[in-house]
Amino acid sequence: MKKIVIATKNEKKILELKAAFSALPVEILSLDDFGELPDAIEDGNTFEENAEIKARFFMSKTNCACLADDSGLEVDALNGLPGVHSARFVGYHGDDAANNQKLLDELDRVGVAEAKSDYRCALVFIDLNGTKFETQGICYGTIKKIARGTGGFGYDPYFYFDSGKTMAELSLEEKDKISHRGAALRQMVDQLKKYLSKR
Ligand code: IMP
Repeated sequence: MKKIVIATKNEKKILELKAAFSALPVEILSLDDFGELPDAIEDGNTFEENAEIKARFFMSKTNCACLADDSGLEVDALNGLPGVHSARFVGYHGDDAANNQKLLDELDRVGVAEAKSDYRCALVFIDLNGTKFETQGICYGTIKKIARGTGGFGYDPYFYFDSGKTMAELSLEEKDKISHRGAALRQMVDQLKKYLSKR
């Protein structure tokens, strides 16, 4: 069975990605299956560039076809920030609470109570033979300063849909139906289905 390694160390993302691939004839591996690996240097200017950097880097480290995700939050009132800096908005990687606090502080600084926002996700699949697929997804909401919900990760408790629910109040299945990652994943699953059926 074809092996695909998912190029992320974010366990919540792995959960969301693995669920989407359960119907495909592939064995999904995570970076942990390859022991200690260095981090890729995500110095691209866009989500697409960073996803491709990660996919190529971890394909070469694992010698396995690779799917990478790069995603983040864009806030209109902050000129699109945190954008590609979402995971390290405070300057170091992966502290959701600190990143959320900085987001609220930045909204205070520009004097807005709430702000139109979107989440974007870029997925890049690269196979050892050079095949490459790229898909994108987006979802729209509003950042408000009151946290609600315990699901999801990152900025989810502050990301409100027009329905009044936050992304963190959705189950994994509900999030998948409307999220940026869910949208990018459905297109990726379609492309991979066609690709795998031709092999
Ligand atoms: P990456 O792992 O370098 O792509 O960083 C993604 C960062 O964007 C995460 O650490 C979160 O801060 C943010 N992010 C991306 N997708 C989501 C999501 O679905 N919910 C909440 N935050 C997200």
